[in-house]
Amino acid sequence: MPILVMKFGGTSVATLDRIKRVAKRIGVEVSKSYDVIVIVSAMSGETNKLVGFVNDTSPLFDAREYDAVVSSGENVTAGLMALTLQEMDVPARSWQGWQVPVKTTSAHAAARIEDIPPENILQKFDEGMRVAVIAGFQGIGPDGRITTLGRGGSDTTAVAFAAAFGAERCDIYTDVDGVYTTDPRICEKARKLDRIAFEEMLELASLGAKVLQTRSVELAMRYKVKLRVLSSFEEQSDKAGTLVCDEEDIMESNVVAGVAYSRDEAKMTLVSVADRPGIAAAIFTPLSEAGVNVDMIVQNISEEGRTDMTFSCPTDQVARAEKAMKDAKERGDINFHDIVADTAVAKISVVGIGMRSHTGVAAKMFEVLSAEGINIKVITTSEIKISVLIDRKYMELAVQALHDAFELENAA
Ligand code: ADP
Ligand code: ASP
Ligand code: MG
Repeated sequence: MPILVMKFGGTSVATLDRIKRVAKRIGVEVSKSYDVIVIVSAMSGETNKLVGFVNDTSPLFDAREYDAVVSSGENVTAGLMALTLQEMDVPARSWQGWQVPVKTTSAHAAARIEDIPPENILQKFDEGMRVAVIAGFQGIGPDGRITTLGRGGSDTTAVAFAAAFGAERCDIYTDVDGVYTTDPRICEKARKLDRIAFEEMLELASLGAKVLQTRSVELAMRYKVKLRVLSSFEEQSDKAGTLVCDEEDIMESNVVAGVAYSRDEAKMTLVSVADRPGIAAAIFTPLSEAGVNVDMIVQNISEEGRTDMTFSCPTDQVARAEKAMKDAKERGDINFHDIVADTAVAKISVVGIGMRSHTGVAAKMFEVLSAEGINIKVITTSEIKISVLIDRKYMELAVQALHDAFELENAA
């Protein structure tokens, strides 16, 4: 029988009642003769609660124990979903990541899926089971310990299963009815897109649009998974949602496809470091070894052989970054006068493959921000995106102003 992957995010399984409603939707696909692989997230709010427990217990935590704790939310929903389906007389069974097994790298809290041997689950389908419910977001590392895939990782679990099982489609059910031109929660003029190109979705996701985890889009692109985002709260329909597809499958597209934002950014500046060959390596190697995800980097003009080095990273990595820099200073690898963290910044990005052939997008972006009196702290660009770091208090204003300026309310 053909296989369908259906993934349900936190709000879609937030209560027993929601689980029941979602189970009915799964039942509809089973009645259409699909064998279904269901990926579930933890109930909404659960993972945040678990992360909070870990941070309160141990601020510079051991990532292996972080994974042991935060993976547990998905175990609950997987079991409950299997029980709910059984109550409806749908043969179903749950699997935790290690039982499948979902084999991952050893990068705890940010592991990558390496292999999903399908035999165990296929055998159960052969024996008459119709729904395999998988706890998303988790796997097992080479050392035999539980790993997690980074926040939002259940999307990646879903796409990886769709690829491993050659599923006909991977449907990501969430609390909005598709991918929008920007987050509909902060811009009411945001428009739902019927289709979006993989590359644009990849940029939007990596720049903060959390509707899909970045890695899930990468995998879908690589393994040609038919990926759809749709709402679990609305009526079922084959045309619903947004299809993430190849650029060639989109008839007409805007120069700018969407605006993304990332709220939890921090800007760190090492004040007065020696400007000498090797200084960037001496700073960024220990940061990377400490697991700090450095994003934007600016080296200021050098005066008398000394310079300021500025970089951005997620706010929850500031403590790690400071420690890594102070340790490097103590070892004598670098020297700086001060380390300053600005934890009240946000990153705003405009994304679109049309930028490859259209000039002037950056200029327009800067003009719009300037007209709103918003100061730009750092800028980075790539072929299809422009990102700026600004004060967080202007984040929503900036998103709305850019959405207006690029006329995204007319997108389709
Ligand atoms: P789930 O729990 O189902 O995985 P998430 O909260 O991770 O759901 O992702 C869905 C949320 O992503 C939406 O509620 C919305 O606020 C946010 N979002 C951000 N950018 C976009 C966008 N461009 N299109 C749709 N949703 C977006
Ligand atoms: N529950 C995890 C999180 O909140 C994984 C997911 O929902 O995708 O990040
Ligand atoms: Mg999510």
